[in-house]
Amino acid sequence: MAKKVILEPGRTFSEFSLLTGRTRRKGKISDVSLQTGLAEHLVLKLPLLSAAMTSVTGYEMALALGKEGGLGILPARLPVEEQARIVRRIKEYEMGFVEDPVTARQEATIEEVLRLVERFGHSKIPVVDRNNIFQGMFIQQHYWETEAVSQERVTAAMIPFGSGQVSHCNDPEITVDQAKKLLQSGEQRYLVVLDDQNRLVKIAFQKDVERIKVGSAITTYRGWQDRVRANVEAGADLIVVDTSDAYSDFAADLIGEYAAMKLDTPLCVGNVITYEGALFLMEQGADVVKVGMSSGSICTTQREKATGRAPMTALLEADRARRDYEKISGRGIPVIMDGGVTGPADLIIALTVADAVMMGFYFNRFFESAGEKLDRGGKVTRDEREMVSVATWGEGSSRAQNLDRYGHATRKTFFEEGIEGRVPYLGRLKPALKRDMMKVRAALSNAGCLDLAEFRRRAVIELNSPHSNLIVSAPHDVKEKE
Ligand code: IMP
Repeated sequence: MAKKVILEPGRTFSEFSLLTGRTRRKGKISDVSLQTGLAEHLVLKLPLLSAAMTSVTGYEMALALGKEGGLGILPARLPVEEQARIVRRIKEYEMGFVEDPVTARQEATIEEVLRLVERFGHSKIPVVDRNNIFQGMFIQQHYWETEAVSQERVTAAMIPFGSGQVSHCNDPEITVDQAKKLLQSGEQRYLVVLDDQNRLVKIAFQKDVERIKVGSAITTYRGWQDRVRANVEAGADLIVVDTSDAYSDFAADLIGEYAAMKLDTPLCVGNVITYEGALFLMEQGADVVKVGMSSGSICTTQREKATGRAPMTALLEADRARRDYEKISGRGIPVIMDGGVTGPADLIIALTVADAVMMGFYFNRFFESAGEKLDRGGKVTRDEREMVSVATWGEGSSRAQNLDRYGHATRKTFFEEGIEGRVPYLGRLKPALKRDMMKVRAALSNAGCLDLAEFRRRAVIELNSPHSNLIVSAPHDVKEKE
């Protein structure tokens, strides 16, 4: 008989409900922070990493996600030079002005402006009159704090230009460097540039002044040292060892050698799915541990070789290891959940345990993903209006054939562990991310938590029976309006 047979079934995120906790007065949705720390010098504004998959993360995705405060992880399957070049381009990404900002007319209602916010994902919309003379700034966060109702004019909810609280300058010729200085010294997170008649010319945002973060994947195979050096030199903020099974001597050797390289860049190692595997990587000296196997959207690992684990169970076991390791070492190791998180609801349950989540399918569907965009007939298109789906493929599919990730020293032993397919096209990343992060913030607020660390300490989740899951997970008995 096997050494151990576990008869308790493995669990996934959607089997759990988050219970409510007392929401404090200062715990509204807009008060919640989603910041997460992966290392001393690596704090993300959002707990999200894009998968190190050639169908998901390239320059565009890493840039778009990085701008929003997450972390794109460039796949190890890219040639070293290309990977390092993308890192460099992202680290050197220079703020520019938004020359053609989306504006609202002062006659518009708050509701109409909120629609613009929703459509473009910008939380700040300048308000102008019919001559483009700047009247004030609509800021979503500020609006939430006012009593204004959505049928009122936007002027009731904006910060008026005359209030002295809008940071601006009347110099259309201002340079990027001058704007940067003003942004860094000023209190506001934006700078409105006007001409001498107060007509709106352009805007600069603080967010674009901060360096964008990006990470790079490596494998445990020959040449990983060169890949590390190239990426660290280019400025990568995190090195991620991307192997499907990191409970191995190869991973341990790599961690030891990486430590000897004495780099400041933190090392994330994965994936593992057991208590023993997670503890092993922590003891070897991994700075961050990544969890998951067989739960990825494109993954056929369980079907092909019956190996893997339901993701929530794998995560809970890794978390048990981290708590035990912290008791003996005093070091709390961040844990990243990877695979099987399909949207905000899964994400919320995963974040009751994990410090951050890596997603492939979720990011694959956006304009910025690396997969080809396809039209109705399945043909590749560059016209945004024609895009209906996006190509996807796993790193273990025959298209990517990332042999190293799956432990194949040669092509001889290779078999597919991932499929190729399509996912629905969802448009640009930013507005969708904003909407989904609002849901995550709302859940934390319901749970009475102000930030993710508190959420991990205080969240209470409950397993549903398959029958109760049918009742709570979707509308029932009602035919939905088309
Ligand atoms: P998703 O978010 O459910 O799409 O899962 C993404 C994760 O699946 C990646 O970050 C990898 O850990 C994993 N993965 C990527 N390609 C493959 C594959 O071909 N087979 C199995 N797992 C894969």
